[in-house]
Amino acid sequence: METAKLFHDIVNIEQERQELQAEGYSWDKIRDVLDEKYRKHAQKGKFICRCCGSTVKLVLYGPEKVCFFSHKNTDECSGKDNYKKYTSSRIGENDQQHRIGKTILKEYLTGQLKFRGIEVQDGYLYKQRLNIIPDLILYFPDGQVWAIDYITGTKTDQNYHNFLRKRIQTYADQGFRSFFLIDEEWYSPHMEKPVLSLYRSEFLMLRSTEYDQIWKEKIESIVRLYGENSLIVLQSSETIRPYTVLTMMYVNMSKLTALMVRCVPIISRSDSTVGWAYMPHEAVPLQLDQIVTLNDRGTDFRWFAPNELSMRDELKQRAQNAYEELNAKLERERMEKEEEAKRLNEQAEKAAREYKQRQEAKTRVQQVYRDEVAAAYDVKQDAQSSSQIRADAFGKVEYYRFLLARFRLSEYLKAYPVFHEHIERCQSIIDQADRDGEISREAWSSLYSQMENMKNALKVE
Ligand SMILES: [Zn+2]
Repeated sequence: METAKLFHDIVNIEQERQELQAEGYSWDKIRDVLDEKYRKHAQKGKFICRCCGSTVKLVLYGPEKVCFFSHKNTDECSGKDNYKKYTSSRIGENDQQHRIGKTILKEYLTGQLKFRGIEVQDGYLYKQRLNIIPDLILYFPDGQVWAIDYITGTKTDQNYHNFLRKRIQTYADQGFRSFFLIDEEWYSPHMEKPVLSLYRSEFLMLRSTEYDQIWKEKIESIVRLYGENSLIVLQSSETIRPYTVLTMMYVNMSKLTALMVRCVPIISRSDSTVGWAYMPHEAVPLQLDQIVTLNDRGTDFRWFAPNELSMRDELKQRAQNAYEELNAKLERERMEKEEEAKRLNEQAEKAAREYKQRQEAKTRVQQVYRDEVAAAYDVKQDAQSSSQIRADAFGKVEYYRFLLARFRLSEYLKAYPVFHEHIERCQSIIDQADRDGEISREAWSSLYSQMENMKNALKVE
């Protein structure tokens, strides 16, 4: 163990060694200093185990150049066992950083809690054997026991997740309330979106404070007013329902500051975590002494910011803005669509108008032609009562030639194979009329009716 009782005080021999080392002392020199200071008391058996009360030895050498106290005999001592487990379970923590951080944390907790009669102790001094040892244990006058852990090294693997799960369970079995303070190094907000990423194990260290419930109610009321999308736009497979707000405290032990983060885990529809959590507001910077302060009733740490009320109002304002922006965007899109539809409609109407005009022009031309043909026919009939009509009187035999050429190209001709014959017959009537300079009334009626039939059937105008 690092600590032992000497007269009225607690000696932390490893801390003293580190302080000497920090002052630039060599290992040999450190040993000399500590030996000079403590050897005689040690020889007289005055170092006492804080856990079992038995005499412990001062050990100033060791393969890892660390100093500690060890039990003289193999008598049962839970502290001794706990300490062994404690040090071995902390392998992987950033050693130096963890040790210093824990020392600072202990000082701060002691300073804040002493007046309430709460005792702050190293976890390994717990009077019973524990399978997993917390960094610090708080003993309340009413019998409550809180376990405090300061987490440093980054732990990504499944083993650590399982270990942490076991740790939390062990504390619960023992009747401890557990609190985790994570090194700020772990804090990883998204640069653009109101979310932060979390290790699986990190989710286990989130806890529910009394302010989280107020946040949850605020978020629920905002969702009722403006919808979930006004807070954060997620994929359809994800949700932040039922809006469970939890709190994480990230600490920076060298600056004596902390970042308080409230967040809502993002859950996939299959009920598993997606490794991210929604942050209703930015991380709140706090001082270390603030986060080790208890609430008035002494039931919890006072993890809250003085301006939480205005932060909740800000959240509502942001959501309202997002909601209005979203609506304005939808309205813009709706109007753009309407404009586009109007434009397309006008285009179609214009095309229809133009088509109709073309058709009418065509019909007019044809009508004029028919009138001319009819007029010419009538004139000829009147002028010559004979059965012979001169072909040139029609003047539009060329038009029939043109129509015959179009008939031959019509795709509908396939459906009327007999028209090939009709076309040739009409052609020969026209050729004959050309040669003779006249056409018989019968030949003209036959030509006229066949041409009209084919015009309709072959859709040629
Ligand atoms: Zn002991």
